[in-house]
This record gives sequence, C-alpha cells and structure tokens, in this order.
Amino acid sequence: MQAFFDKFTKKYSNTGGWLDRGFRYIVNYTQKGDILVDYDKILERLPGLLLPWYGQGHRQLPWRADREPYHIWLSEVMLQQTRVEAVRDYYTRFLAALPDIPALAGCDDDTLHKLWEGLGYYSRARNLKKAAQVIVERWGGEFPETYEDVLSLPGIGAYTAGAICSIAYDLPTPAVDGNVLRVTSRLLDDPAPIDLPETKKRVGEALGKVYPKQAGDFSQALIELGATVCGPNRAPDCGRCPCREICLGYQNGTARQLPVKAPKRQRREEDRTVLILSCGGRYALEKRPQRGLLAGLWQFPNTQGHLDTAQALAYAQALGLRPREVRREIFRKHIFTHIQWNMKGVYLEVGETAGSFCWFTAEQIRRQAALPTAFRQFWEEERDV
Ligand code: SF4
Repeated sequence: MQAFFDKFTKKYSNTGGWLDRGFRYIVNYTQKGDILVDYDKILERLPGLLLPWYGQGHRQLPWRADREPYHIWLSEVMLQQTRVEAVRDYYTRFLAALPDIPALAGCDDDTLHKLWEGLGYYSRARNLKKAAQVIVERWGGEFPETYEDVLSLPGIGAYTAGAICSIAYDLPTPAVDGNVLRVTSRLLDDPAPIDLPETKKRVGEALGKVYPKQAGDFSQALIELGATVCGPNRAPDCGRCPCREICLGYQNGTARQLPVKAPKRQRREEDRTVLILSCGGRYALEKRPQRGLLAGLWQFPNTQGHLDTAQALAYAQALGLRPREVRREIFRKHIFTHIQWNMKGVYLEVGETAGSFCWFTAEQIRRQAALPTAFRQFWEEERDV
C-alpha cells in the first residue's frame, strides 16, 4: 500500500487541494490502528438500506422485464456513453430484428450498423457481433455462466461482465460504472479521482465484500441511485436518499463537490472538408476503412483541411468527377472522445455518377446505409432544404 501511495503522490503532487484529503482517506482506509471512520462498516449497511428502497419502486425499463443474459448484455452495451431515454427505442428495434444470439452472430454488417445508426461508438456493435460468434462457436449459442467466461468475450470489460453476472445469475460481481463511483465517492467522502483505474478497482473490491444474495437487485439499486437521487451534473437529492444516515458526503457537507475527476487531456482538433456529391438525385457514399475511427461505416467523401471553393472543385475533378455547381457550403463540428472534427460541407452537383463511389438514392440511404452522426448532420441539412 505504501508503494501505491508513493505512486499516487508522485502522479498528482501538483493537482492541488484534494491531495491532502486523499492521503487522509488512504490512511483511514488502510491503517487499521488509525481508523477514524470504518469505511467497510458503511458499505456493509448499503444492501440493507438500498434493497427495500429499490423494492418499493424504480424506473420501468424494457431490459428489466426479464433476466435473459442476452437482453442484459445488449442493454448494458447500449447504455455505455448513452442516455437511458435514447436507448429505449434502439433496444426494442434491435431485439425485434435480432431476437437471439445466433441471429446476431449471423447478421450482415450493414444490418448491424443500420440498427446502431445514431448511437455512436460503433465498435460496440461490432464487438457484440464478434462476441455472439464466439458464443455460438464455443457454447452452442448459450450465454456463458461464469464471470471469467463472460469477461473473456470481445468488448466485455469488468463493468459489463459484473452487471450481466450479477443481474442474470445473482453472482456477487460488482458492476462499477460512473454512477456507482459517484455514489461511493459521496458516501465515503472519497476524494480519489473516479476516473483512475485504481479507484475503480478499489471500489469494486470493497463492494464485492458486501454483496447480498439478491446480487442482481443490489447492482440495479446502486445504478438506480446513481442515475436518479444521487445523479450526475447536479446537486444530489439527499432529502430523498435511503442512504443519508450513513453518507459521509452528506454529513460533512462535501457531497456537492464530489466526485473528483483527474485533469483531462486536451482534445486534438482536425479540419476536414466533406463533399456531398449529388447527381440527378443520387449521392456518392463510400465505406470507411475496416480499422480505426468509425471503422466500416458509410461516409461522404472527405479530406483533411478546409478547401476553398476552387480547391473543392479541383479535388472533385481529381476524383474522376465533372463538377457542375456548388450548391451550398456549411460548417459543422463533431466531437469524438479524443478528437474534434471541424467540418466544412461542400454540396456539389456533378455531371455523372463516376468515380469509385456507391451512388445511393435518398431511399437507399434511409434504408441501408448507416451514416455516423458526423456525416449524417450534412445529410439532414440536405433533406431539410
Ligand atoms: S445522501 Fe446525498 S450524497 Fe449521499 S448518497 Fe444519498 S444522495 Fe448521494
């Protein structure tokens, strides 16, 4: 533990105020003789407070209707980085099209991308399919039942494996996501940055010791508390919280300042020009490479930098096209996790459907082509005109 503290101190020595409190936290937590507050005791009381509260009522969500592991897996993957309200329709539509694991394993990529279109982070969908193929090959299409097997699947990390195993099989496997970390940070008045892997690991280990028999309900209750009463980006609603009597953040008046996050790396910015090429009601699309950002999805042809009108025309010619008229130019931006695209859209009518593109009608784009949001915003502008 001393080694951990040395590393912690060195890494965050210039980040300011919370370091002292971090030290106090670690001492309280680890040096049994010096314990000022027994954090294990606080967590031990959690199930007794949370389960009755959860049992009295919670949000009715489609993926809570049963404990089918495929359904829980799909919902958990969709809910990563995405709001509950946005996921509802996607979840229902996805299951209607691909009702079981063999159907997911056998679907074609365009169908998969179309079902995911607009949700973002498309690698999640590709990993779902890859994992489904592994399940079919290795377990005959039956979802595996041990934490280790579930964790071995493509795209499934500790959180998702913990959620599936606890909710589907009542295993004592904590599902520690941002909601749960925010709750524990406030409950324990814990200033350790919640986005550090060591914090997540420590919280997972501590929660694993207090998991009750109703592991699924406990996981759901923790997530529910963090999504509703002790929510993000707003003051916690402590007046309605079942855990108020054990909450150090509430008692010490620090809950509103928690959780702490480590300083973020700056996002790289990149200028791009996007060509919305049309020819008599058809539009040029191409597939992105199979690896890297937005892998395998459809896109409008685009290139680095902001081309002026003359440069855009010359670029279209170099692509083997006969440009006729620039119809409009607009600017949009799109933010990914580590990069921001500053995009200039050039709407260009051309003389023939040439070049190495697929020329789709509007109806084909609507039905078949999954356009990620970065490019879809230019398409929506076109439909609005
Ligand atoms: S008492 Fe307040 S801060 Fe503590 S867990 Fe409940 S809502 Fe969050």
